[in-house]
Amino acid sequence: MFIDFIGFNFFAYMVLKVFPLVLLGVLIFNMIQKRFIPNWGKKRMATLYIAITLAAFIAIAFFIYKYRLTDWLLIPGFLALLFFAIYKQKSFFPFSWKCEKCGKRLTPFIVFLRPENICKPCSVQESNEDLKNRE
Ligand SMILES: [Zn+2]
Repeated sequence: MFIDFIGFNFFAYMVLKVFPLVLLGVLIFNMIQKRFIPNWGKKRMATLYIAITLAAFIAIAFFIYKYRLTDWLLIPGFLALLFFAIYKQKSFFPFSWKCEKCGKRLTPFIVFLRPENICKPCSVQESNEDLKNRE
């Protein structure tokens, strides 16, 4: 096979080179979210879950590289993590481009850095209703 011909775990090696940078990017983004989303919240949890999943994939690649296993093992490892993310879709991808109340398109700021997928007019309306209910 091509991979055996190279004589070392080229793909596992590439994963070990590239994915830590992706993981770092996700973690930095999680810190940015911290400024805007109070008390964790589902969107900040989502980037944490994604970070953990990336770390798991890096661990698989490290294991393959260290014990000189075949790179093909990356594929079932990747698929297992992908299926887990799809299975837990609500936890992994709580982001939506549409307002939950009126269906209007949301800005990237609201999509990634606001706790809820609700546009500004709707969130103002909601907080007014909350005030009325409290009176
Ligand atoms: Zn709306």
